[in-house]
Amino acid sequence: MSGRVAGKVEGPDYRVFPGSPVRLAEIDPNETEGYTRKKEVLPELESLRKRIRRLHEKLYAENKRGLLIVLQAMDTGGKDGTIKHVFTEVNPQGCRVSSFKAPSAEERNHDFLWRYHKSAPAVGRIGIFNRSHYEDVLVVRVKNLVPEEVWRPRYRMIRDFEWTLTHNRISVLKFYLHISKDEQKRRLQSRLDDPDKRWKFSKNDLAERERWDSYQEAFEEAINETSTEHAPWHVVPANKKWYRNLVVARAIAGALERLDPKFPPAEEGLDSVVIPD
Ligand code: ATP
Ligand code: MG
Repeated sequence: MSGRVAGKVEGPDYRVFPGSPVRLAEIDPNETEGYTRKKEVLPELESLRKRIRRLHEKLYAENKRGLLIVLQAMDTGGKDGTIKHVFTEVNPQGCRVSSFKAPSAEERNHDFLWRYHKSAPAVGRIGIFNRSHYEDVLVVRVKNLVPEEVWRPRYRMIRDFEWTLTHNRISVLKFYLHISKDEQKRRLQSRLDDPDKRWKFSKNDLAERERWDSYQEAFEEAINETSTEHAPWHVVPANKKWYRNLVVARAIAGALERLDPKFPPAEEGLDSVVIPD
C-alpha cells in the first residue's frame, strides 16, 4: 500500500543499502508502482510539497540542522524539473540551488572538493546540488580527464566528506534519476523540436550520449561505493516525470520528518506584553 498514512511517508524504498550493491540495468526506469497517470499522484505530491514547506520553516527557525540534497542524472534525466516541481512551495530564503559546470581555472587549483564544500548548506538551510562532487568520478572518469589513480581514491574522499557534513549537523540525501536510453532519445528530440527548449540542446549532448554505457558503469560503481548509512543514494525510476517527483518528494519529506525540527521556544513572559500605540 502506498501513499500517505497518519503522517508517515510511504511508498517503495529506492534507497541503496551499503553491502547490497545495485545493478542499474536491473532497475526499471519505467516503474510507477502501478500508477498510470499524472493526475493520480498529483494530490499526494501537492500534500508532500506542503509538508516539505512546513518542515523547512521549522528547520530554518530552529537553525540547528541542515539538509544537502544531491541530484545526479544522465543528460535530460530531469534534475532541473525535479527542483522546479518538488521545491515549488519552499521559501527561497533558506534554500539554495548550486549548479556545477566544468571547474574554473581557480577551482582546478584546489582539491576537487573545495568548490562543493564552499557551497554546502549551513544549519537552518536546505542546499540542492544540481550536479555535484560526483562529477569528479563520473565525467572525469568517462572522459579520462584524470588517470584512474587520481579519481579512484575520490570514492573514499567523498565518503569522508559526506561523513564530515553529517557529523556537523548537515544530513545528506542523494538521488540518481534513472532514465532509459530510449527516453533520453525522446527528450533530446523534443529539445530539438520545440523552439522554447532548443536553448537546452547542445551538440555535445550527442557526444555524451555515445558514451552512455561508460556513464552507466561509472554511475553504478559510484553509487555502490558511496551509498552509506549516513548518506544514502536513491535510484529513482525517472522515465515518468510525475513519478520521479513523487519519489523524490517522499524521500525528502521523510528525511525532514526524521530530523523533526522544532520552532524555538518563545521568550518568557510574552503573554503580558502589550504593544504600545
Ligand atoms: P542540462 O541538463 O539542463 O543540460 P547541465 O547540468 O547539463 O544542464 P550543461 O551546461 O549542459 O548543464 O553541462 C554542464 C557540464 O559540466 C556537464 O557536461 C558536466 O559533465 C560538466 N561538469 C560538471 N562538473 C564537472 C567536473 N567536475 N569536471 C568536468 N566537467 C564537469
Ligand atoms: Mg546539459
